[in-house]
Amino acid sequence: MFESLSDRLGGILDKLTRRGALTDADVSEALREVRRALIEADVALPVVKSFTDKVRQRAIGHEVVKSVTPGQQVVKIVHDQLVEMLGSDAEPIDLNAPAPLAIMMVGLQGSGKTTSTAKIALRLTSQEKRKVLMASLDTRRPAAQEQLKVLGEQTGIDTLPIVAGQTPVQIAGRAMTAARLGGYDVVMLDTAGRTHIDEALMAEMAEIKSSAEPHEILLVADSLTGQDAVNLATSFDERVGITGIVLTRMDGDGRGGAALSMRAVTGKPVKLIGTGEKSDALEDFHPSRIADRILG
Ligand code: GDP
Repeated sequence: MFESLSDRLGGILDKLTRRGALTDADVSEALREVRRALIEADVALPVVKSFTDKVRQRAIGHEVVKSVTPGQQVVKIVHDQLVEMLGSDAEPIDLNAPAPLAIMMVGLQGSGKTTSTAKIALRLTSQEKRKVLMASLDTRRPAAQEQLKVLGEQTGIDTLPIVAGQTPVQIAGRAMTAARLGGYDVVMLDTAGRTHIDEALMAEMAEIKSSAEPHEILLVADSLTGQDAVNLATSFDERVGITGIVLTRMDGDGRGGAALSMRAVTGKPVKLIGTGEKSDALEDFHPSRIADRILG
C-alpha cells in the first residue's frame, strides 16, 4: 500500500559512502521524503512544516555511527520527534475530582461522539468501578437521545430519562442533580454536533460548559480528518477549552496523522482511540504505536 519511510530514506541516504556527520544536503533530501510521508498520513501542512524544522535541527551534525545506516538513523530521529510531539506517555481520563464529576463530549456530527460516550462509560464502569450516568444534550435530533438510550440498554449503563422540550443546559442541570441524588460518580454529557463548525454550536458548548463545569471536555474527532484537523481542534479549544482528544475510526486504513496535527496545535493529549463500532472497541493512546503508523 504505502512504501515505508524507512525504505525510502534507506534508498536516499544509504548510498552515502562517506561517514561522519550528516550534512545539510543529506538532511534536506531526506526531509523531502519525511514531508511526503507525513502528508500521505494526513498530517496538516502547517504541522508538517514545524515538524520537519524540528527534525532538521536534530539531524544536522548528527554523527553517523557505523553500526546502523544513515537511513535508519534519520528514521529514528523522525520517530523520536514524533513520539515527543505526540506526548510521549499515554494519558488516562482524569477522575480526580469530587463526585459527581462531569465529562463533556464535543465534536462534529458523525465523528463518533455518542458511540465514544458509551464506550467511555462502559470502561469507567467495568475497569474503574465507577457508577456512571449518561445524558444526551442533543435536542436538535430526537434520534440522538434515543440512540444513547439504546446504547445504555445494551451496555447496562443508566441514561437520564428523556424529557421533551428542555434546552441542553436544562438537561445538563437535571443530569447533575440526578447524579447527586442517585450517588453517581461520573456523568457523561453527550452534546449535539453539526456537520461543520459554526458559531451557534460553539456558543451552545460554551454555555453548557459554564453551567455543568465539566472536569474533562473531550473532543471526539474522526482519525480520517485531514487538513481540517487543525481548524477543528483550534476552534473547539479556543472557544470551549478541551482537556483531551478521542480519536475514532482507528480501525480503518487511515494513518492517524490527525493525532499529530491536533496535539501539535492545541498541546492537548489524545487520550483514547476508537477501534470499532462495538462498545468495547476503545483503547489507550500509545504515542509510539501511532508514530510507527504515521511513518508507515
Ligand atoms: P456522532 O454523530 O458523533 O454521535 O457519531 P456516532 O457515535 O453516531 O457514530 C457515527 C458512526 O460511526 C456510527 O455508525 C458508529 O458506529 C461509527 N463509529 C464510531 N466510532 C467508531 C470507531 O472507532 N470505528 C468505527 N469503525 N466506527 C465507529
